[in-house]
Amino acid sequence: MKAFRGEILSVPDDPGAAGPEAIRHYEDGLLVVEDGLVLACGPCAELGERFAEAEVEQLDGLIVPGFVDAHVHYPQIGSIASHGEQLMQWLERHIFPAEKAFADRAHADEVAAFFLDELLRHGTTSALVFATVHPGSVDALFEAALERDMRIVSGKVLMDLGPDGLRDSAASGRADSEALIARWRGRGRLGYAVTPRFVPTSSSEQLADAGALLAAHPDVLLHSHLSENPGEIAFVAERYPDAADYLDVYDRFGLVGPRSVFAHCVHMSDRALSRMAEAGAGIAFCPTSNLFLGSGLFDLGQADRHKVKLGIGTDVGAGTSLSILHTLGAAYGVCQLRSCNLDPFRALHLATAGGARVLNIADRVGGLLPGQEADFILLDEKATPLLARRSAGASLHDRLFALQVLGDDRAIAATWLRGRRAWTRP
Ligand SMILES: [Zn+2]
Repeated sequence: MKAFRGEILSVPDDPGAAGPEAIRHYEDGLLVVEDGLVLACGPCAELGERFAEAEVEQLDGLIVPGFVDAHVHYPQIGSIASHGEQLMQWLERHIFPAEKAFADRAHADEVAAFFLDELLRHGTTSALVFATVHPGSVDALFEAALERDMRIVSGKVLMDLGPDGLRDSAASGRADSEALIARWRGRGRLGYAVTPRFVPTSSSEQLADAGALLAAHPDVLLHSHLSENPGEIAFVAERYPDAADYLDVYDRFGLVGPRSVFAHCVHMSDRALSRMAEAGAGIAFCPTSNLFLGSGLFDLGQADRHKVKLGIGTDVGAGTSLSILHTLGAAYGVCQLRSCNLDPFRALHLATAGGARVLNIADRVGGLLPGQEADFILLDEKATPLLARRSAGASLHDRLFALQVLGDDRAIAATWLRGRRAWTRP
């Protein structure tokens, strides 16, 4: 048994709905861990005696749950900061050529290792990750995640209408997905997501297959993109003229349910959001990506009116940073442009327990609750002179907001996976 003593903050429930009681803050807290799981978390004054036999590590900083990245592409990590295009042209010019290289397993292994180490360095302990069309790209990521004991959900991309060199067929896409699900089920903390890239790159036959895979395997997620860019949306409307909207195309193939995660959802009708809420589908809000590609401004207020599940995605390589702190700062700006005010405690919730809920892993991580896996990080409010100056003597609310506006990977002092220190800032 081990205990970590210091200032602890977690937001297991959405303060937007549950109110301030959702915020759990212990100025002198104790996080007790046994066999990788949280045994207790609360004020040291209450727990200290009960767990007197635990070996105690004192931590200087703010302990929060590890971040959950609800949408990111590991094969695009080297294509981050590619200049000059919007979504469809950016894919053609920068991304598809980079993804073709993942036919080479050694390349996939090298990038997967780099990507996961970068996640840990940025304080991200769980993620829903796009691979490429190549099954080996998923094996590479899962092997590297298993080695590091990370909670990673991923899947082979389905794209039978993709460009040369990145095209599967409906039959091979389904068979490869089945084989990957069978190969990786129950190993470590890994999960599988059926992953049609988006409607433009899959045939109706392949989308129907994706629905069949989802129905046949109750433990897998559905991970895709939805309503990101006006050009993309027009393309989908032309191909399915009788569909109510973009979401309706996924819906008619059985792809909209409680295990579905759609990145972006920037241009949404009230009908589509209401249908998502009814189905229990989740959104990955990716502010830096939406700004970088000029896709548009996600409307948090509109999503909230329909009570849709929300997480935060970095969406690298269209996103501009793997830092969830930085991404929350951008989320604040996007919300300001939509006349909506993102509270810093709610932002932390979305980046931890909220994202975990979207990924259907909220019983395992995100809230530092007893029985959950002890994935947590230590935030350093003295990481930069400006952050230290802004935080000194400030309220918890203001310190947390300063971390989101001024903080990034420099503010992650250390990262723990199941109570084991997995990364320490030099
Ligand atoms: Zn994406």
